Amino acid sequence: MADRPSPDLTPLQPILANYAGQGRSALIPVLLEAQRACGYLAEPVVEAIGQNLRVPLAEIHGVIEFYTMLYPQPVGRNFVRVCTSPICAALGSEAALEAAARHLKVRPGAVTSDGEWSVEGVECLGLCDMAPAALVGDTPVAHAESSQAAAWIGAPSAAPLGRIAGEPRWLSGRCGAIEPTDVRAFVAHGGFRGLQRTLKELTPAQVVAEIKGSGLVGRGGAAFPTGTKWEMTAAAPGEVRYVVCNADESEPGTFKDRVLLEGDPLSVIEGMAVAAYAVGARRGYLYVRGEYPRAQSILTRALEAARAEGFLGERIQGTAFSFDIELRSGAGAYICGEETSLFESIEGKRGFPRLKPPFPTTHGLFGAPTVINNVETLCTGAWILANGVEAYRSVGTKDSPGSKLFCVSGDTAAPGVYEVPFGTTLGALLSLAGGPRGEVRAILLGGAAGAFVGPDQMDLPLSFEDLKAAGLPLGSGVVAVFNTSRDLRGVLLSLAHFFAHESCGKCFPCQLGTQRQLELMKKVHEGRATRADVAALDDVGFTMTNASLCGLGTTAASAILSARRLWPELLVDGRSA
Ligand code: SF4
Repeated sequence: MADRPSPDLTPLQPILANYAGQGRSALIPVLLEAQRACGYLAEPVVEAIGQNLRVPLAEIHGVIEFYTMLYPQPVGRNFVRVCTSPICAALGSEAALEAAARHLKVRPGAVTSDGEWSVEGVECLGLCDMAPAALVGDTPVAHAESSQAAAWIGAPSAAPLGRIAGEPRWLSGRCGAIEPTDVRAFVAHGGFRGLQRTLKELTPAQVVAEIKGSGLVGRGGAAFPTGTKWEMTAAAPGEVRYVVCNADESEPGTFKDRVLLEGDPLSVIEGMAVAAYAVGARRGYLYVRGEYPRAQSILTRALEAARAEGFLGERIQGTAFSFDIELRSGAGAYICGEETSLFESIEGKRGFPRLKPPFPTTHGLFGAPTVINNVETLCTGAWILANGVEAYRSVGTKDSPGSKLFCVSGDTAAPGVYEVPFGTTLGALLSLAGGPRGEVRAILLGGAAGAFVGPDQMDLPLSFEDLKAAGLPLGSGVVAVFNTSRDLRGVLLSLAHFFAHESCGKCFPCQLGTQRQLELMKKVHEGRATRADVAALDDVGFTMTNASLCGLGTTAASAILSARRLWPELLVDGRSA
């Protein structure tokens, strides 16, 4: 067999020069840029990177294998990525993927003969309000119908930037109303008021006290009290502290952070700066998932604009406070939404979760005290500093004050992001979204890691306390509706596939459990599951829930088991063996 020609390493040189001396934490940015410049991560490219960053080759190969968007084999110059998450799958993405492959005359995972295209299914593109969705190159495509594949591949038109509907218009006011990177328009619409007030009127302790007094809790799913997190980080010993924005929104059904990142990026920057002032950080990282190239491009411009107008950098707004933010791209790993995995990724490693304790507030990024918050949490923090605790607590319930962004997708007339007070009922939220399309069969709350409810739950108030009392998760605010025409077993199969694909493999209960769960769900889907198989789902689910190391494993069975409890007949074919 003829030797493969050596890749041209010329484009790599300026990249390596740009990151010279930064060491291992530059590994993933360098790999992503090198891949773009050289086509793929051929061995000579990897060797040159290893020598330059002083990272052992075996470690780099471990990193490349871990992230789905890093390619050690030749790939197309452009990608068609079709979302295969449960919502897109239910609305026809499998046919869209097949149509894309047929149109380009290539099988999924392979490269066209001219080297131009690769086609692949991906777990979630965060475009669930536009399902079935695709990413053609860096262009997000809405409603990628199989019958129109030639059009959306040949001349993809970008999906519109998201808007947020509903009341109160706290986080939604600027989305879609102003050019997202225009600092002056942002200021004219109330932007940076929270930061200005913070810097001019408040001590760090007072900022923490306001956030604690507001009752704000994290919006990424864990619902940890934000003020307490900031207080613990501020009090932790150490000279260096970090603020990290977790914009690795990968939970199927979740897309609110994408809408904020693309439509109101300066609010995210403001929230990070407020948090940095509160805890004494001078540096921040904004970690955005690799599947959001448009958000990354908008954020890059927003960061430059904020620096140019004196809202980032040295001596912000003429005060003694200095803070700057580095944008980091993920590379295709759901687990990096777990906070310690995200730190590992920024540090240039595989995204394996760390054992806790110690917690990030004392031992976070690079081992230093770190505040890590979700996009929506940071935007809400900035809003509270601008408008006051009383205004924030004027809506919502006593135990869940304020408003929340919900991601409504699936079979509703108007899928999208809706901002409503905590305590709004499920039925009222769905009415805002135009009402269900067809007869509702099932509603998935909280995402892939969430739980199903039936159509009899329309009076359920969406607050932490009410959902907890009902044994249901709020998660990141996912409300995905499936009507009676959908293949619910297919939805459960795609949930099982998602977790089997995304398990990082660090601990056995999850690594093996998610594979076993997938095998069992395949049998269920094909109608060949016995009662023993269905009972085994309970055992596997119990083990994963109770013995896994991190939240991915402990929740990997929750949606499937909730469906089994609600619709016992759904999984069983009546076989008795
Ligand atoms: Fe990895 Fe799953 Fe274990 Fe989490 S629970 S550490 S994702 S194998």
